[in-house]
Amino acid sequence: MRAMQLVKIPLTLDPIKSAKMKSIYSGGIESSQLPRLLEASAGFCSDIQVQFSCGNDEFGTVIVKGHAQGEVSLVCQRCMKEFIQKISVEFCYSPLTAKSTEEDIPDTYEPIDMDETGHVEIVKLIEDEFIVSIPFFPMHDVDTCSKEQDFTLGDIDDGVEERPNPFAVLQNLKK
Ligand SMILES: [Zn+2]
Repeated sequence: MRAMQLVKIPLTLDPIKSAKMKSIYSGGIESSQLPRLLEASAGFCSDIQVQFSCGNDEFGTVIVKGHAQGEVSLVCQRCMKEFIQKISVEFCYSPLTAKSTEEDIPDTYEPIDMDETGHVEIVKLIEDEFIVSIPFFPMHDVDTCSKEQDFTLGDIDDGVEERPNPFAVLQNLKK
């Protein structure tokens, strides 16, 4: 196996250079670097653990491929209590260059823009992955949600209302 360079997560990344060096990045992104994820949470987000590698696929296309894990607090939309949601994301980016336009990049890769210095804001991209992974309607698992009991009772009550009231039937018989 080829010796690989293990590097800490930088805020910005030169994907072309990193692909040439076949760099592997591994480390944490501190929660203080994730203000938008914190904003999307219920007030807490953990540091994110990230691993990714840079290289070229068999056609020479530059790819940045990896995964990340972290936790955010969310408000359960069933019981309205906060809970901690684990989030894992996988990504495979390909930078848009003069040689590889959006049409050249296979659908399995997510095209990303580079700035004028040839860098991508990798931490922001990973933060975006987490933000879009937050469920639109966050809820506890059924087993752990404190509202589950009430929810079941609510369903039964609704069922009763749809049936004719037995006392009303009796009242009609008396007449
Ligand atoms: Zn709940």
